[in-house]
Amino acid sequence: MDKKELLRRLPKIDDVMRQESLVMLAEDKGDLIVTDAVREVIAAKRAEILDLIEDMAEHYDIRSLEIGKVAEAAELRVTENEKLRLFPLINATGTILHTNLGRAPLCREAMDNVKCVSESYSSLEYNVKQGVRGSRHDLVSELIKELTGAEDAMVVNNNAAATMIVLATLGKGREIIVSRGELVEIGGSFRIPDIMAESGAYLREVGTSNKTKASDYENAIITEEEAKSFDCEGLKSGAPRYQTAAIMKVHKSNYEIVGFTEETGIEELVDIGKKHDIPVIYDMGNGLMLDMSEYGLREPNVPASLNAGVDVMMFSGDKLLGGPQAGIIVGKKEYIRAMKKHPLARALRVDKMTFAALEATLMKYRDPKLALRDIPVLRMIAESKDSLRARAERLAYAISEANSDIACEITEVEDQIGGGAAPMVRLPGWAVSVSEAGKSADRMERKLRKADVPVIGRINEDRMLLCVRTIAEDEIDLVAEVFRQF
Ligand SMILES: *Cc1c(COP(=O)(O)O)cnc(C)c1O
Repeated sequence: MDKKELLRRLPKIDDVMRQESLVMLAEDKGDLIVTDAVREVIAAKRAEILDLIEDMAEHYDIRSLEIGKVAEAAELRVTENEKLRLFPLINATGTILHTNLGRAPLCREAMDNVKCVSESYSSLEYNVKQGVRGSRHDLVSELIKELTGAEDAMVVNNNAAATMIVLATLGKGREIIVSRGELVEIGGSFRIPDIMAESGAYLREVGTSNKTKASDYENAIITEEEAKSFDCEGLKSGAPRYQTAAIMKVHKSNYEIVGFTEETGIEELVDIGKKHDIPVIYDMGNGLMLDMSEYGLREPNVPASLNAGVDVMMFSGDKLLGGPQAGIIVGKKEYIRAMKKHPLARALRVDKMTFAALEATLMKYRDPKLALRDIPVLRMIAESKDSLRARAERLAYAISEANSDIACEITEVEDQIGGGAAPMVRLPGWAVSVSEAGKSADRMERKLRKADVPVIGRINEDRMLLCVRTIAEDEIDLVAEVFRQF
C-alpha cells in the first residue's frame, strides 16, 4: 500500500466522534476537548505517514488507522491533555523549605479549611455577629495579636509585598536608614534597594559591608528641622537629604557574614529609635514563632523580636511559620492602621484561601506542642535522628521489596532548612542511597524525576540519595511504587 492510499484511509474527525466511547467521553469532558484530541491524533498519523520512506509504507500498521483505534488513541490523548502543570511530587532532597518545590507544605487542618471555606460562601468580609460589613484584615489579626503580643496585624501577599507597603506607608518622600551589611537580595528580583526605590522612600545606607555600629545609625538621623535647613550635612555637599522616617533592620536570612564583623542588634536600634522618636522596622523574614534553639535553630523568633520593642515587623507565612504564602505585618496600632488605609492594601490583599490556611495554621500555635506535632515544617526540623533512621530503614525495605534490582544503602546526610532561612544550619539526618548495577546516578535521577509521581532526590558524590526528613511516612509506598515501575 502506498502513502496516498494510507492517507486516504485516515478516518474523518466526525466519524471518529460518532464512536460510542467518544460520545460518552464528550458528554463528560466537553465536545471541544474531545474533538481537539481526535484532530491531534489524526494530524499526528498524517505526519507519520508523510514522513515514511516510500518502501516503508508497505509495512505500515494499517489497523492503527481504523476508527476504533483512532478513538482509543484520542481517549488517551484527552487524559494526557488534562494533566496539570502544577501537581504534587515527593521531596527527597532533605531541604525542608525548598523554594522550587513550593516552600512549606501545609498542615492537614489548613488544607481542610481551605477546601471548606472556598467551596462555599464565607464570612470573608461579613461580620456575622453584628450583621454588618466586615474587613478581611480583621480575620486573623486577633489571633496574631494573641500569639505574638503585637498591638495589631495585617496580612498581604508575601513578605516582599509587606516590605513594599511598610516602606511606602512609613517612608515615602523621606529617608530610611539601613546597614550596608543588610542590603540583601532574597532571590528572584527582591532587592532591598529596589523595593525601597519603588516605595518612594529614600535609602540611607550606613556602615560598611562587615561592620555597622550604633553610632553609624545615630549619625545618619536627619530631623525635620535639619531637613528644612541648610545646616544639613548633605545639602552642603550638594546631595539632597530628607527627614529620617525610620530605621530598618533586615534579617540576614540567606547568608552570613563571618570574620571581622559587627552588627547593631535590635535592642540597640530600638533604644536609638526611642531616643530620636523614629520607628524601627524589622524585616525578619522567616516567621519563626517558637524558640527552636534546642533543635539547632538559633534564629530570631517573632514574639521575642516584638518584645524587644520594634515598631513594625514583617515576615513570610510560608517559611518557618509553616503556612501558606503570605506576608504578615505586626506592630504598633497607628502604623498598621495607616497601612490598612494605604491604596496598596487593596493591590496586595490576599484571597480567602490564604486566610483559611493561615488561620488554621496559626491556631496550632496556641499550644506550641501542637504546632511542633502538626505543622510539617516544624515537625521535620524537630524530628530526631533515631526516628529518621527508622524511616530510612522502612524506605530501604519497601524499595527492595518493590524492585530487587535496586541496591539500597542507608547513609548519614546533612539536611538543610532552605528557603532562604538559616543558611548555616545543618540538621543531621539519614538517607537511602539507591543504585542499579552498571547504571549511573544521573540516569537514576532522571528516571525518578520523570516518574508519574516524581521523586526529587539529591546527587552527592555520584550517589543518588533519598533524604527521608522531607519524605512523609505515607509517601514511602509511593516511592516504592516508582521503583516497582522501573
Ligand atoms: C524571605 C524574605 C523576604 C521575602 O519574602 P517572600 O515571602 O518570599 O516575599 C524578605 N525579607 C527577608 C528578610 C526574607 O527572609
